[in-house]
Amino acid sequence: MLDFYAQQLDTLKQQGNFRQFTQNHQTDKWITIEQNKMLNLSSNDYLGLASNTELKTQFLQQSNSYLSSSSSRLLTGDFAEYEACEASLSKAFNGRSALLFNSGYHMNIGILPAICDNKTLILADKLVHASMIDGIRLSTAKYVRYRHNDLAHLEKLIEQNHDTYERIVVVTESIFSMDGDETDLSALVAIKNKFSRVMLYVDEAHAIGVRGTKGLGCAEQYNVLDEIDFLVGTFGKALASVGGYLICHSIIREFLINTMRPLIFSTALPPLNIAWTQYVFEHMQTMQKQRAHLQNLSDSLQQHVLEKGYQSPSTSHLVPVIVGESTLAVQKAKTLQQQGFYIMPVRPPTVPKNSARLRISLSALIQHQDLEPLIKCL
Ligand SMILES: *Cc1c(COP(=O)(O)O)cnc(C)c1O
Repeated sequence: MLDFYAQQLDTLKQQGNFRQFTQNHQTDKWITIEQNKMLNLSSNDYLGLASNTELKTQFLQQSNSYLSSSSSRLLTGDFAEYEACEASLSKAFNGRSALLFNSGYHMNIGILPAICDNKTLILADKLVHASMIDGIRLSTAKYVRYRHNDLAHLEKLIEQNHDTYERIVVVTESIFSMDGDETDLSALVAIKNKFSRVMLYVDEAHAIGVRGTKGLGCAEQYNVLDEIDFLVGTFGKALASVGGYLICHSIIREFLINTMRPLIFSTALPPLNIAWTQYVFEHMQTMQKQRAHLQNLSDSLQQHVLEKGYQSPSTSHLVPVIVGESTLAVQKAKTLQQQGFYIMPVRPPTVPKNSARLRISLSALIQHQDLEPLIKCL
């Protein structure tokens, strides 16, 4: 019985697409793998909060929360920590309702099937994250993808379909993971406002903590916090925790509590975890200095990458260096790792053909001088 799976694995190995875990050890901005200590340029810990031991110690000294919620929130899992964390989110996000999920993945595979029926059309950016694709697949909605970040294409599709469906849900990210570019959220909201049946679903996974004065994401930065029907994000990246959140109308929140399967049928995260999420969320809002530094560092690296003659569409702290050939990307990543920079290659099918790349993910812990030798190596 195992032969079938073993053969599939062999094929992956032959194609150079075999994946495996690599144990690592992390302190501050460094990552050590097999005794090679490197600058960590592949982490989602954008503000350096996950490696902040002081913050962790402060939190643990004052917390005595339960380590398990033992059930879904609808049974006995609705601990005070949940209500407090949602109140904290709600307060930050202009009083809109907030709802927590076990992860960003649960959130995206749960909300979309719950809110979309067969009279719904989903229009999704070509490059949205796998979790949204899976959510769309689990729903009974019709589904069309628009060209990446092409809002004119999106508007045309809305015009063509507006009278055929009861509702159209536009699904996108604010900052995109692989290109590091971003959706013009003001323009997106302007399009939505031209139509009566359009709702916006925006995933801020890479923007929460990083953008906006209080770190609430691109929606804060572009002043459209109240205009996005489903504003979602994760606590697993800059927020140094785990879980997902939705900012929405109170009716949507109640509707999801009654219909969303991953929320109803899965044990809620430990109250201790939720207390930590809230602790970090409050702290994060004060980190303007770190956000400004990260922006500065990102601008500088983008500039250097372009000067070196590479393509890079990035406008954020996620800076791809597009080299084209998969083998070249793999080889360059290996060389950079030997020189002390932990950078991973990203190849098709994760990215389009002939656009294999090195993906550099910056954190506020990194200083300009840390990047100087890297720029020389590129
Ligand atoms: C990482 C990510 C997710 C998944 O979030 P988790 O909390 O890690 O499950 C969802 N959407 C996007 C855009 C992401 O980058």
